Amino acid sequence: MAKYDYDLFVIGAGSGGVRAARLAAMSGAKVAVAEEDRVGGTCVIRGCVPKKFMVYAAEFAHHFKTAKGYGWTIDGATFDWPTFLAEKDKEIARLSGIYVRNLQNAGAELAHGKARLVDAHTVEIDKVGRRTADKILISTGGQAWQPTEIPGAELGITSKEAFHLTELPKRIVIAGGGYIAVEFAGIFNGLGVDTTLVYRGPNILRGFDDDVRSHVTEEIEKRGVKVVLGAQHASIEKTSTGLLHKFTDGHETESDVLMWAVGRRPYVQGLGLETAGVELNEAGAIKVDDYSRTTATNIWAVGDVTDRINLTPVAIREAAAFAETEFYDRPTRFDHDMVASAVFSQPPIGSVGLSEADARHQFGKLDIYLSRQRPMKYTFSGSEERALLKLVVDSATERVLGCHVVGPDAPEIIQMAAIAIKMGVTKTQWDSTCAVHPTLAEELVTMREKYVPMGLGQVA
Ligand code: NDP
Repeated sequence: MAKYDYDLFVIGAGSGGVRAARLAAMSGAKVAVAEEDRVGGTCVIRGCVPKKFMVYAAEFAHHFKTAKGYGWTIDGATFDWPTFLAEKDKEIARLSGIYVRNLQNAGAELAHGKARLVDAHTVEIDKVGRRTADKILISTGGQAWQPTEIPGAELGITSKEAFHLTELPKRIVIAGGGYIAVEFAGIFNGLGVDTTLVYRGPNILRGFDDDVRSHVTEEIEKRGVKVVLGAQHASIEKTSTGLLHKFTDGHETESDVLMWAVGRRPYVQGLGLETAGVELNEAGAIKVDDYSRTTATNIWAVGDVTDRINLTPVAIREAAAFAETEFYDRPTRFDHDMVASAVFSQPPIGSVGLSEADARHQFGKLDIYLSRQRPMKYTFSGSEERALLKLVVDSATERVLGCHVVGPDAPEIIQMAAIAIKMGVTKTQWDSTCAVHPTLAEELVTMREKYVPMGLGQVA
């Protein structure tokens, strides 16, 4: 008789958990997965996927304006939020169902309920009972965080609720300057909501290249988002006409909805980690080694709960590496270097590798190539929108260290650029690639002149 009920017990059926469970089960292992919510996790249920549908919905406002320049008459176009929500929810339910079926087809069992570690080999699942396993994987993801110390903070919502607002507000204030704040600012603005983004720092999207940050701020302002920098909420009050926001800089504004987009935290509450010897790091995330093993030898963790790079494809690769190592006898580590990412702002961003500031810090002398241009599609519409393309190159080795694009299809462009950059491409090799014309991306392989910021004189 087997020593444990399962070879692997996975807590959390999001992108990481499902991938690990399927791969492990396909190796012949006996696998179970516990999920307290819907199968699919943040990405499918309340993140990337519904967000992208919202971005698509919102982009039509801009497409309609562009279309007029091409001779189209689009009169009386209106948007119906409940219709969109119903379609979106239908698709999310379909995708969640596919995740369930994929698990079942691979032979993994699914238990609905919150799971908690009782000891290093035992899990207690609400309404299901206790199960034992040789190996345990924690893939519980993260949760939206919101401040509690600011008077009236509880009047705000987070991205979780933003996917289910019964009515589209007339005015929204979004607090934060990261991925979620900028993406939702574009969504609500595109859907006709008077949108204000309030960020505490000097420029949004900290961590991205500075030229990208300032370019995106200008572009989202051109599209109608009000960006307030260097300000934080001091209080929020409910009034007869909505919410009154008071900021630390003395500035006040009114809205119908406040959305907190001030970060996410690893979801570790109630997991019983301490009883099994699973330690957290200083950021409150589960501490893991390069193979995603926690401080308990038979327990692993992948995805946002480990707070490494909080992106769906990264969780999937960490999970796959875990399964390869533990169930296929092929020790595998996921390499977290040069992971590309996209921000589905409007216009969107695609970015891979180092920002100019980080590269300068690490490599010293750089060659910068930068181009700003009007996307061809907007020539007839009178749009002032500009795209940005930037390459960061190490002067000594000619290696391309970073590529940053803001403009139409930037997320699609960056996926391809990421292959070459991950392989260590040099600028000469990059430039030997013939352009695809007429495209925005061709500019990336035709930039020959080193960029010199205004006032800094010629670079030799
Ligand atoms: P981010 O970490 O990207 O941004 C959080 C923002 O909130 C920052 O601007 C931060 O400011 C600000 N902030 C933090 N604490 C406070 C505070 N106390 N008061 C005011 N502002 C505060 O988190 P998000 O929630 O936007 O997204 C979470 C993660 O999810 C992302 O980092 C990303 O990894 C992932 N994600 C990826 C997406 C994609 O791939 N397209 C889309 C959405 C999310 P400061 O910079 O000054 O610290």
